[in-house]
Amino acid sequence: MRALFVSDLHLTDSRPEANERFIAFVERTARSADALYVLGDLFEYWIGDDDLGEPFNAVMAGFFRSLTSAGVAVHVMRGNRDFLLGERFCAATGAALLDDPAVVPLGEPTLLMHGDTLCTDDIDYQAWRRTARSAEWQHEFLSRPVEERRRVVGGLREKSRQVIRAKPADIMDVNQEAVREAFRRHAVRRLIHGHTHRPGRHRHEVDGLACERWVLPDWYRPGGYLEVADGVPRLVHW
Ligand code: MN
Repeated sequence: MRALFVSDLHLTDSRPEANERFIAFVERTARSADALYVLGDLFEYWIGDDDLGEPFNAVMAGFFRSLTSAGVAVHVMRGNRDFLLGERFCAATGAALLDDPAVVPLGEPTLLMHGDTLCTDDIDYQAWRRTARSAEWQHEFLSRPVEERRRVVGGLREKSRQVIRAKPADIMDVNQEAVREAFRRHAVRRLIHGHTHRPGRHRHEVDGLACERWVLPDWYRPGGYLEVADGVPRLVHW
């Protein structure tokens, strides 16, 4: 059993290098895996599944379709940028939506998250997350025309860039107590997530138990993935 984990690819037609790495990854690396888990922020932004016909989105969805057609089980978790990915994307690609959080058996029970819910020190972000994940906000947003949604998201991203520049870096990392609480609540000793852009293997002691937290690399720099082969995790950087 060989499962691969990626997150924070932030695919967009304005970053062709990442797209080329993604295509090479799909065609060479992922095709021979049993499962691929995308733990959020596959896309730089996603304004709703009714934008699947947009040429870039259609091409990228096609690569996922080729993977699932080849027999790879593809699981997609929503991130903070593509939280509007939904059932139509899954129907078009053959991927399965994965809850955040989710526990999967990978040699041992493993907790999967995007990672943003662990960043509890970022109060403003958590407030925005609650708004954007509410049925009311999503219903209102999705009822707007595609072009208008694109403009709104462009404005949000610019505002977010300014806010992030002004924030101390540690606010945008995980809160240690939130991490321990996640291990406890789900009764696991291994966690895999992305989002923080601080890839590596982090050790935690939770109520006397040794636990490990694997953080996936983003694809702004070369990027990479986590492989879990026969229960053993290994980070691979390009
Ligand atoms: Mn993220």
